[in-house]
Amino acid sequence: REHTVLARDLERRSGLMLALTQRLAEARGVAVVADVAGRAVQELLDCGAAVLVPGTHGELRHPEGESPAFLDAKGLGAAGWVFTNGHAAGLGTDTLPDVQALFLPLPGRNESMGVLAVAPAMPWGFSPEQMRLLDSFARQVGLSLEVERLQESTRQAQLESEAERLKASLLSAVTHDLQTPLAAISGSAESLLLADVAMDQATHAMLARNIRDEAARLSRLLDNLLRLTRLESGTVRLRKEPIPLEEVVGTALARLEKTLAERAVTISLPDDLPMPPLDGLLMEQLLVNLLENVAKYTPPGSPVHIAARQKDDSVELIVDDRGPGIPQEALEKVFNIFYRVPGEKRPRGYGLGLAISRAVAIAHGGSIRAENRPQGGARFVVTLPLETASAQENHSHAFTTDNDPGH
Ligand code: ADP
Repeated sequence: REHTVLARDLERRSGLMLALTQRLAEARGVAVVADVAGRAVQELLDCGAAVLVPGTHGELRHPEGESPAFLDAKGLGAAGWVFTNGHAAGLGTDTLPDVQALFLPLPGRNESMGVLAVAPAMPWGFSPEQMRLLDSFARQVGLSLEVERLQESTRQAQLESEAERLKASLLSAVTHDLQTPLAAISGSAESLLLADVAMDQATHAMLARNIRDEAARLSRLLDNLLRLTRLESGTVRLRKEPIPLEEVVGTALARLEKTLAERAVTISLPDDLPMPPLDGLLMEQLLVNLLENVAKYTPPGSPVHIAARQKDDSVELIVDDRGPGIPQEALEKVFNIFYRVPGEKRPRGYGLGLAISRAVAIAHGGSIRAENRPQGGARFVVTLPLETASAQENHSHAFTTDNDPGH
């Protein structure tokens, strides 16, 4: 009979361990793992439980929500001791046995990852079997926390090097591109102020217009930078719904009525085109950026063709022009922030439009690429998946409706 009881115990314990392991495997991030582990112990042993992990300054804390009542000053003191020394303490141990909870270290491979604090429902504490169970739990949780911590620090390192790269390009943009409008603004303002001799009205107006236009350019640049940063940092949550592409094309063209006035714009959208889930405003911005480039980089009067088609599980939106195309080696680089194809007489710009377009496509789980057409001209292809894979749904929006005429 003893054998049977032992075997059943063992089976139950492995069942519980399996359940915890599965839940931990699904959890992402140190705070979530700690939270999930605390709850699992609570449920499984029907007791109070919490997992404490070190914060940025090394202080132990309860990562999510309010910490349970049994974690008073005395409890936190005991937890701190356990974290530093790597030994269990509290109820049922030789260290601080008068504390009404048990504190177990959560060992990682290299260092202590945190502390599991458990307050038994019954004042007599835990049975040896429960103690063994808690001990194996603690080891599992320690390892999971270590994996999550490593991933978080790798992500942080990636973010930092990306930030360095951005900082460098921003700096070069500031030196080259911001100086021009700033010089124009201060020059015009200086002339207005110095004009003690009667200035004719036309000159006066010209200088004032100059200041206004250059200031508007600067403000558009800052707007676009802000958009891009928000999109890339993931603080913009998309508001996706199935929208006919026809509608997006229509609003984008309406916005560019003046810019494209002299162009023959042709559109071919199949009637049975499925509707990919889109954030209407962001998609419109993407298309506006592509079409503004057509207006800027192709000869006046040359035509532009907008098309869409279904390809496998995606919809492709295509913009074709008949301009000079893009040098082969720049086909990918044009999507980089601040990248512009070098040239003598290129129109003004900051190299932001396509970077924003790419960020929008990626935020939709899609992509964008540039090609040169065999018959001449550039082709931009935006691929938009029909299924929403990412959980990007939310209701906030970074693109407030503005009448931004361009970038
Ligand atoms: P900007 O227009 O401000 O330079 P973009 O990111 O919109 O920035 O474009 C990056 C570069 O890609 C442009 O400087 C231009 O050299 C090139 N480009 C974009 N669209 C076209 C096009 N339709 N035809 C030729 N070149 C293009």
